[in-house]
Amino acid sequence: MAEKYDPAEIDRKWQRRWEEARVAYVDTRDGSNKFYMLNMFPYPSASRLHVGHGRNYILGDALYRRERMAGRRTFNPMGWDAFGLPAENAAIASGVHPREYTEGNIARMKTQLKGLGLLYDWSKELASCDPRYYRWNQWLFLRMWERGLAYRKTAAVNWCPGCRTVLANEQVVDGRCERSGDPVEIRDLTQWFLRITDYAERLLAGLDGLDWPDRVKTMQRNWIGRSEGAEVFFRIEALVEPVAVFTTRPDTLYGATFLALAPEHAAAAKLAEKSPRRAELERFIERVRRTSRLERESEGGEREGLDTGITALNPATGEAIPVWLANYVLPDYGTGAVMGVPAHDQRDFEFARQYALPIRPVYRTEAGEIDAAQMTEAIPHGGVLYRSGDWDGTPNGPEAVRRAIDGIEARGIGRGRVGYRLRDWLISRQRYWGTPIPAVHCPACGVQPVPDAELPVLLPEDVAFRGAEGNPLEQSEAFVTTTCPKCGGPARRETDTMDTFVDSSWYYLRFLNPDDAAAMVDSERASKWMPVDQYVGGIEHAILHLLYARFVCRVVRDLGLVSIEEPFARLFNQGMITKLNPSTGKIEKMSKSRGNTVSPDELIARFGADTVRVYTLFIGPPEKESEWSEEGVAGAWRFLQRVHDVCGRVAALLADAQKPGTRPAVGEGAAAASPLLRIEHRTVQRVTEDAQRFHFHTAVAALMEFQRAIGEALDEGSETPAALAGAARTLIRLLHPIAPHVTEEWWERFGNPPFLLDTPWPTFDPALATSERITLVVQVNGKVRGRLDVERGAAESDALALARADERIRPWVEGKEIARAVYVPDRLLNLVVR
Ligand SMILES: [Zn+2]
Ligand SMILES: [Zn+2]
Repeated sequence: MAEKYDPAEIDRKWQRRWEEARVAYVDTRDGSNKFYMLNMFPYPSASRLHVGHGRNYILGDALYRRERMAGRRTFNPMGWDAFGLPAENAAIASGVHPREYTEGNIARMKTQLKGLGLLYDWSKELASCDPRYYRWNQWLFLRMWERGLAYRKTAAVNWCPGCRTVLANEQVVDGRCERSGDPVEIRDLTQWFLRITDYAERLLAGLDGLDWPDRVKTMQRNWIGRSEGAEVFFRIEALVEPVAVFTTRPDTLYGATFLALAPEHAAAAKLAEKSPRRAELERFIERVRRTSRLERESEGGEREGLDTGITALNPATGEAIPVWLANYVLPDYGTGAVMGVPAHDQRDFEFARQYALPIRPVYRTEAGEIDAAQMTEAIPHGGVLYRSGDWDGTPNGPEAVRRAIDGIEARGIGRGRVGYRLRDWLISRQRYWGTPIPAVHCPACGVQPVPDAELPVLLPEDVAFRGAEGNPLEQSEAFVTTTCPKCGGPARRETDTMDTFVDSSWYYLRFLNPDDAAAMVDSERASKWMPVDQYVGGIEHAILHLLYARFVCRVVRDLGLVSIEEPFARLFNQGMITKLNPSTGKIEKMSKSRGNTVSPDELIARFGADTVRVYTLFIGPPEKESEWSEEGVAGAWRFLQRVHDVCGRVAALLADAQKPGTRPAVGEGAAAASPLLRIEHRTVQRVTEDAQRFHFHTAVAALMEFQRAIGEALDEGSETPAALAGAARTLIRLLHPIAPHVTEEWWERFGNPPFLLDTPWPTFDPALATSERITLVVQVNGKVRGRLDVERGAAESDALALARADERIRPWVEGKEIARAVYVPDRLLNLVVR
């Protein structure tokens, strides 16, 4: 009688044994044959992990186990991105201290991760809110300050009214705060910045060599936004300093008929003072400043401007042109000043039409000169320059731009320049739960660095969380009151904390020496272990975290601490898991606020951790969005039950046979190969190749086929006990990265020493692995939706499983009921779905 599969007991047993044996421990002094596997460290949230979060950890763990079995010294650490606003907001709401709140969440999340059977080297665990960690944020900041890479300036910055703090440009998405979604305001404040723009070229150049998704590399390229053009100076009679304009179209300089300044531009206030329309201008400046970025940036937003009544000189024509303040010019785009060329720029064209400003075409087409009065839109491309002095006759394009730059430089009215969209990284935050910026404000000496010997600057505990505007650290007199490190006089501490993206910009280095009190980085270990071989995490970090980490890694390299520029050699972004949202009736990303989450805890209690893992990996191509289904979970459970049964039957057979046979070992080849041996070798090949590409969904499909073949051989009595035992052992080893508990259990029951992690990955004989393959056409509701490469004579159930897992066919059957399947072996599978 078949034994019941009892995952609860098996899960508990093996999770305990792995922990007791510290199977994931790695001595990082030895970096031979290394493989550094890393999941992006999570924020310890108060809400429990759902299966959507689980996906990237399960993928990471499966790859980790597979690399271990392939014989690599694989390092898989885990830590906590533990600073941040939710903890502080919880303190305001409920009075729990952010530290207590964070520690509680870490403990709970850790239990959840362990419950999924995930193995990490917990001896290297770190949390960014630990002073032993954040003191090195401060140390790094001081090194950057010494080199001019950290600095303080007054600037128009993004302010999130919801988070009550400033934000970096990278944290503003379509004019809204990426965290809270509030429309972002622009305020003039004195803040700390990191000079990431100094690294723009290196950050661009490094992208080419990375084994990363193209989408992420393109997003970073666009964010850095390199453009070649010119900086041109416009004299304004009322001002001493000319206003600099950066333009990628210096060739249209003769067509500039107005100058538009951001209301935040330093020249705007000065012009207002001198203008006959002073009061009106000052009101306008105030009003625009209060409007959100979102309104100012959006396509359909209302464009508004006000003539200062003061003129500038077009440096090419010498003509006086009006100076306007315009809401569509943002202070952090270019220089915050735009030369208005309405004939050849659509936004300028619309503005000119709205305010009846002159339009002067400087390109003519083959059809002749353009009549400005007849224009209905700008003409950005094409034609030949005219009305442009000695540039006349140059065709539109790079040649015209080059000619213009030469001319501008020769006349001393500007210079060629490479511009970037990237801005320096604003790291000040007016919040408590972050790394204190190690600076002191002295009335006599100005702002001074905290000496290294006084690090860490600890977060004070005597702070009340009231949710009022203003930095909570200002309330702690004991924290704020200090002495100046230079003159010894009374001084005040900086009360801003660092952006938490500073914490995550170098944590991958710290796993190599988390307890090191003497150094931020252990250079020797880093030289052995860096870069991270495989990094796994969400696409939402494509710019923020991944750009900052690449920047800081370069800074750390320039400090002489590491030798690499790129921290992550290979990147994988897992797709989201979706589910029906009961309130909208739509299939949406799984999230707590939508109420469509599935907790792994309940599923583990019902089906065991292996079922959750198998289904999560089987659900679809890992880089794609996949929809969660209850039936899928049940299917994964049935598969494991069958694996359990097959292993039980093989074990019983072996007990009967008593003596081992002479079956050829996998990898050694065999002259008289049985059909099962061929399937076995083919499965080893497929799973090996699939696992390397993260394609565990097709690996699971192959293992299902293999399990079925063993079951059939048992039914038919067509194989020797030794062959069956060999096949079952191979099944267990191949399935281990996907379903570690039940496989570990059977490995032991078959009389092998633990642990499967330390058992070599099976090899295959290519001669045995090849078989006669045919192409099976798959139709869904009568339309051809894909073709499958299957073995001749494949069973209908195998063909169906492969069709469901196939990337092209899946979208047509997913979430639908298969009413009927018509199967013509070796030719056609027709599915009728509804
Ligand atoms: Zn916000
Ligand atoms: Zn001083």
